Amino acid sequence: MKDDQVFDIAVIGGGPAGMIAAGRAAELGAKVVLMEKNEVLGKKLLLTGKGRCNFTHNELDIRKFTEKYGRNGRFLYRALAVFGVKEVIDFFESRGVKGKVEQGDRIFPENGNVQDILKVLLKYLSEGKVTILYNVEVINFKQEDRKISQVILRDRQIIAAKFIICTGGKSYPQTGSTGDGYHWARQWGHTIIEPVPALNPIKIAEKWVKELQGLSLKNISLQLFQNGKKQDERFGEMLFTHFGVSGPIVMDLSKNIGTLLKRGAVKLILDLKPALDFKKLDQRIQRDLDKFKGRRFKNSLKGLLPLSMIPVMIRLSGIEPEKQVDYISREERNKLVHLFKELELSPTELLGFKWSVVTSGGIALKEVDPDTMCSKKIENLYFAGEILDLDGPSGGYNLQECWSTGYLAGESAAKKSS
Ligand SMILES: Cc1cc2nc3c(=O)[nH]c(=O)nc-3n(C[C@H](O)[C@H](O)[C@H](O)COP(=O)(O)OP(=O)(O)OC[C@H]3O[C@@H](n4cnc5c(N)ncnc54)[C@H](O)[C@@H]3O)c2cc1C
Repeated sequence: MKDDQVFDIAVIGGGPAGMIAAGRAAELGAKVVLMEKNEVLGKKLLLTGKGRCNFTHNELDIRKFTEKYGRNGRFLYRALAVFGVKEVIDFFESRGVKGKVEQGDRIFPENGNVQDILKVLLKYLSEGKVTILYNVEVINFKQEDRKISQVILRDRQIIAAKFIICTGGKSYPQTGSTGDGYHWARQWGHTIIEPVPALNPIKIAEKWVKELQGLSLKNISLQLFQNGKKQDERFGEMLFTHFGVSGPIVMDLSKNIGTLLKRGAVKLILDLKPALDFKKLDQRIQRDLDKFKGRRFKNSLKGLLPLSMIPVMIRLSGIEPEKQVDYISREERNKLVHLFKELELSPTELLGFKWSVVTSGGIALKEVDPDTMCSKKIENLYFAGEILDLDGPSGGYNLQECWSTGYLAGESAAKKSS
């Protein structure tokens, strides 16, 4: 076997988790190969934060940070202790890319360009003399007795002492994340928690939604109901699209919506004026209508709603648009207040993996050592990144998970081999 086909550590998948894992292992002196089926590294990374890369979240308290991932978040304690938010900020800053805290405590590179993040990672890999193999699709592995010995590519094999799997989830498969790692892990005896789309736009039954496509609403609240019982709630920003709704709070609710839809119908209740209770909103609407005395109802809502929403709301209110505002009854006004506070949306399905920002589910965490990211089934195997059964809300949590688990996996694999 030629020297260029024998390594201490083979990392599969050149996304954020794979790059940081390979870089860290090399920094500790290991001879590392990083294999990526695309022609470039970080194809998905380049899409993050709309090309600006929300690379972590401004929350230094590890306990609070892990709570955002639900019950599985505890798994991240050690990884965050080794390479947490502060270490990630320092890592990029010491290499020339300062982080900037923006709205909602999201941290972006100061110059607002994901390329800066990628450049740092590429330099890290080159400093460690990591061998990068582009355009190579890993097909399978050679494994005997709880140990892997070789990676099988289409045209050759690569020998290594340790293997780190960072092939991501199943979201945005157009970027290369097609769930390959799940198949291998299953064959090694790992349990795969069913991968489902998370942080995903939602299709909505109501036809009027399409008329509002492109409209973004800020400071609104969305409540999620099933069988009349409130299941979840978010406050913030949402967006209407040609198929339904999207935007940060919709994405954050989507995992729950997907799970609940398997059991039956769900409703989203949109409150356009969450800062005002029913009574205050009624007074406010009355005041606004008074200003338009003698005018038609259809021209009276400008102070209360974005322009594009007015025709839709007028139709939904059932109030005759040509009616003079002076003749609007208390009952009609009441209906209007309810529309503003309880506008009903009926989710039919999620948009699916093709457009989901992350995958929920993956390698069952009980079969991975949280102190090292080492598999409990195969002794020289590690996992990192989105392939694990961990997903966070939007805001930089998902990349932070990749940096932390990738770094720890690289470090553990390198230390064990030295
Ligand atoms: C549009 C979009 C915006 C996002 N924005 C943010 C954001 O701002 N902040 C945030 O925290 N998160 C964001 N995310 C989520 C974040 O990008 C992912 O969580 C992260 O990329 C996962 O990293 P990973 O390294 O685990 O996997 P991936 O990035 O999916 O990388 C896996 C790599 O493995 C390669 N691979 C797969 N199979 C094989 C094989 N058989 N052989 C060789 N190579 C293989 C793939 O080609 C891919 O390059 C966003 C995601 C999307 C889709």
